[in-house]
Amino acid sequence: MSDYEEICSFCHRTEGVAGKMLKMSDAMCICMDCLQRSTDMINQSPYKDMLNMDPSMFMNFPNDVEFPEMLRADGKLEDKEQTENAEADDADADSEDEKKENGPGKPKGTFFLNLNDLMGGGMNPRTKVKKRKPGEKKVPIIKLEDIPAPHKLKAQLDEYVIGQEEAKKILSVAVYNHYKRVATDTMDEIEIEKSNILMLGPTGCGKTYLVKTLAKLLNVPLAIADATALTEAGYIGDDIESVVSKLLAAADNDVDKAESGIIFVDEIDKLAKKPNSNHRDVSGESVQQGMLKLLEGAEIEVPIGATSKNAMVPMTTVNTRNILFICGGAFPDLEEVIKARITKQAGIGFNSELKDKYDKDKTLLHKVTTEDIKKYGMIPEFVGRLPIICPLDSLDEEALVKILKEPKNAILKQYQKLLALDEVDLVFDDSALAAIARKASKRDTGARALRAIIEEFMLDIMYEIPKDDNIGRVTITGDYIDGKGGPKVEIRG
Ligand code: ADP
Repeated sequence: MSDYEEICSFCHRTEGVAGKMLKMSDAMCICMDCLQRSTDMINQSPYKDMLNMDPSMFMNFPNDVEFPEMLRADGKLEDKEQTENAEADDADADSEDEKKENGPGKPKGTFFLNLNDLMGGGMNPRTKVKKRKPGEKKVPIIKLEDIPAPHKLKAQLDEYVIGQEEAKKILSVAVYNHYKRVATDTMDEIEIEKSNILMLGPTGCGKTYLVKTLAKLLNVPLAIADATALTEAGYIGDDIESVVSKLLAAADNDVDKAESGIIFVDEIDKLAKKPNSNHRDVSGESVQQGMLKLLEGAEIEVPIGATSKNAMVPMTTVNTRNILFICGGAFPDLEEVIKARITKQAGIGFNSELKDKYDKDKTLLHKVTTEDIKKYGMIPEFVGRLPIICPLDSLDEEALVKILKEPKNAILKQYQKLLALDEVDLVFDDSALAAIARKASKRDTGARALRAIIEEFMLDIMYEIPKDDNIGRVTITGDYIDGKGGPKVEIRG
């Protein structure tokens, strides 16, 4: 028997409440009450002739289901159909063949009703939630002994993420504490407060990648949402609660699993209050307000398999108390705010610091305080619910070279594996790596630029190499990357 409980697509009650369901398709079920009500309605409508048909023609009913009187196929309705069919047979000679095709007792001309169309189409087929038996206690998804200690977690992160030492340390400790809290539920009378995380760092420095890697290592569901797509409920855009439905989908609609997952909200800096604005800010400050209760922990009614609530989408309740929220943003110009604060503190007079002292300071972001973030435009209640601030560094050329070759699934390793399938050795010499890193750092999109640059020159190589079976090794040089020559090609010896 399935672990999942069906939900009536019309009244949204679960099987436990509404009783046996009829399965219309993978995406739809209907309870007996709704079925009765709809047949009553059809009976009063111009489509009432539909009721004279055998319902099994267009629906696949299980044997043990009890039909409402109106639709019972073994009752008078079927007798009536049979007599009608017999009369029709007498009148029309061709109908003999048709009868063979349709089977006895079935009316001529099939009427198919696509109930998915009635629902507006496009429904996610997984509109069921995992059931918990009444009185059954929630089993923690993560056990205390399964949570790696912070130093182990960081060591695992090191295999994938280059640099960002401080961020990896902060995250390992924060995640360790969070899941300790989730696994033990509460520690005596001292309830450990939830510690959501705010990640700051330029684009392409590995914010999303760090969170993805963490979720993979811990084997917890992860939902990644974009703050720019969110709007206050009732406006065009995704509702704030849609981030929780995404997590539910990532957890295969298992509410218990979702309740201990991670939600990453990217581009959070775009929600900053706009200065001197008289308009109602439905996609900025209001979204920050709306997120407050999610961050703190609340029972949220979420649609299953959709991003917005409407009458046709089944709902379930998810508690966000144990969901770890990580918000990330590039916060451009935050450094200016920090600089202004530090230089102001330094005062005036002989001891004052020069205004341009911090202009080239790469670690400025590490001096951030909650005051700076508030000044940037985040509301105090919002910042207060993200107590852990995790700044990331921008990646220099040295780090980019390491990203190219060192991580477990480094880009170069991926291409080398691809060409190894053609039995060709792909080699990048040091000058090539430096040239790629130099080009990438000029684009100001962090490590994201690396793949784009490699794709550009690998296209020709991937196109030409399979032409000649004799090629055994291709060496990419810095000159080739700079457009001053071709790659070194060696023939199989
Ligand atoms: P953002 O900070 O904008 O969220 P991403 O995490 O999406 O950036 O980074 C884009 C890609 O760059 C990742 O998929 C990853 O492959 C690579 N990358 C970025 N930073 C690092 C890093 N520190 N170590 C290894 N790879 C990285």
